[in-house]
Amino acid sequence: MSGAGLQLILILFFFGLAGGVVARIKGSNVLLWFLISFCIPFIGLLTAVFYRYENQELRRECPRCHRVVMLHDAVCMRCGTELEFPQVAIAPSAMRPAGDPRAEQGELRS
Ligand SMILES: [Zn+2]
Repeated sequence: MSGAGLQLILILFFFGLAGGVVARIKGSNVLLWFLISFCIPFIGLLTAVFYRYENQELRRECPRCHRVVMLHDAVCMRCGTELEFPQVAIAPSAMRPAGDPRAEQGELRS
């Protein structure tokens, strides 16, 4: 086996790793972005860097099943209800003010 092939695999692995780290910081799927960055280096990693921060997106509650969904979602992922643009939004999961009554279950600390 040639050393060049092994080096290429190693470089691709580090691209995948970098993509995974970026995804982890942004609250996205780590394995998915690892694979994207591994298979398409440069472009995959750049996409991960410029991809939106999942954990900094505003959220809102589905009026029917009360599942917390992303603000930009047009349809509820659980019950399929079409969602109007809401009057109130829920703070991103990256921001967790202490004692917020609208905080998600399991995120309350006291
Ligand atoms: Zn729903």
